[in-house]
Amino acid sequence: KLSRRLQAVADYVTSGHRMADIGSDHAMLPVYLLQAGKCPSAVAGELNKGPYEAARKQVADAGLNERLAVRQGNGLAVVRAGETDAVTIAGMGGSLMRDILETGRKEGKLEGVKELVLQPNVGEELVREWLFEQGWYLKAESIVEEDGKIYEIMHAVKSEDAAARNAELYDGRFLPLELSREAGRALLMRMGPHLLRSPQPALFTKWRGELHKLERIWWQMGDSELPEAARKRERYREEMNRLEEVL
Ligand code: SAM
Repeated sequence: KLSRRLQAVADYVTSGHRMADIGSDHAMLPVYLLQAGKCPSAVAGELNKGPYEAARKQVADAGLNERLAVRQGNGLAVVRAGETDAVTIAGMGGSLMRDILETGRKEGKLEGVKELVLQPNVGEELVREWLFEQGWYLKAESIVEEDGKIYEIMHAVKSEDAAARNAELYDGRFLPLELSREAGRALLMRMGPHLLRSPQPALFTKWRGELHKLERIWWQMGDSELPEAARKRERYREEMNRLEEVL
């Protein structure tokens, strides 16, 4: 049985797709997807030796060696172009995730890939920005709470009309706020365009927490006389105001 977080990732993978899970650790996700009959074959990629060996053992124990290839390597280097329909990356920071996607894209590893399911632990907006810039339509997002932690899961698909659909998705006019186009888009990039359209309790929990952190930083900076600190505080203040309005 998968954790709620990984189950949410698994749920977005389209039935019948060959998949690759990058940073797979114990290969829990691909093992599940094969056993559930959702994917015909999979690649589990791991950079580090420990997790790579754990994945090898897990896959052998499950008797899935024929259909699930465990490979050691950096990011998407472990997949061959055209080998996979879906790529999942879960449980790492958004910045690393974006680097993996960008390097893979440059090396042609995303050619033929139809969907990406991504679960960054932090820095979600970096991932949304990359998807937007690269013409991946953000089809759906979800947010789950597990053991006191909150996770966001994104499902992106390659489509001809991605640019037009994304333009609509990141148009902040539906928000009850007076925002410029740019500010609206920035807010949606940060908080999630789907998540903001149908807000769940976990979304409020997450951003109330972030607001709290910002407030603390703001108060701490109150003592500083440096102009740089004052400017920074002004930025934080604006961000706090915006968050408060949305929440
Ligand atoms: N994907 C699993 C999950 O969500 O439960 C495991 C997440 S684990 C916290 C992150 C894994 O990514 C680690 O096993 C780590 O070794 C691996 N990793 C980190 N950087 C990587 C990279 N550049 N390429 C492949 N794997 C990487």
